[in-house]
Amino acid sequence: MKALSVKKINKYFHEPTAFHVLKDISFEVDRGEFVSIIGKSGSGKSTLLYLLSTMDTNYTGEITMGGKAITGLKQNQLAKFRNEHIGFVFQFHYLLPEFTVLDNVMLPALKLMKKSKEEIKGEAIELLTLLGIKGHEYKQSSKISGGQQQRVAIARALINSPSIIMGDEPTGNLDSKNTKVVFDIFRELAKERGQTIISVTHDDEFAANCDRIVELSDGKLISE
Ligand code: ADP
Ligand code: MG
Repeated sequence: MKALSVKKINKYFHEPTAFHVLKDISFEVDRGEFVSIIGKSGSGKSTLLYLLSTMDTNYTGEITMGGKAITGLKQNQLAKFRNEHIGFVFQFHYLLPEFTVLDNVMLPALKLMKKSKEEIKGEAIELLTLLGIKGHEYKQSSKISGGQQQRVAIARALINSPSIIMGDEPTGNLDSKNTKVVFDIFRELAKERGQTIISVTHDDEFAANCDRIVELSDGKLISE
């Protein structure tokens, strides 16, 4: 069973004028695979990722994740699927600045209401340890470095053990040292935990070192 299957995706924007942004996109991703999406600015990478993340349902074609058809699900079903199965990491960390590091990581799991607060706290600390943030749990998230904040954002994306982790230029704001740290974390999550990683990047070295590159040009998939 594929982690992700995308079949004949087409999407248009209608404002300010009709614009065919994604053109007949089809590809598949295996479980535990680490895939980079690359392409020039404006080629449709973020638009595609937004569809894959289930946030945008305005397209034709079919998206299947872990064998489950996503296309056609209702908003509340999508929200549930997303919370349980997908973790997101963006270029900007979007941590809540007034909250502690630990609270930021715990929040998505508290929302899911599947585990006790104590259990969630234990898992959050475990993730922070894995990501090298141990010792900073009780600091306000605004009071740690940018590289650390991005790793906290990754911990937050991982707290519900998502089967797929999606990133939109997750290292776009990081120096080369922290970029490598984030890359190595993704690499390990794919290899050791079988989590699937799909990440938009404009970092050539990042892309070259992952398992596979999916390249977009003018809304078309030009290489796989
Ligand atoms: P990338 O992430 O590869 O830089 P995007 O997916 O953000 O590209 O954008 C692809 C194209 O779609 C661009 O030409 C962009 O201007 C256009 N676009 C993006 N979002 C919208 C929108 N909400 N409405 C109209 N056009 C959009
Ligand atoms: Mg983009």
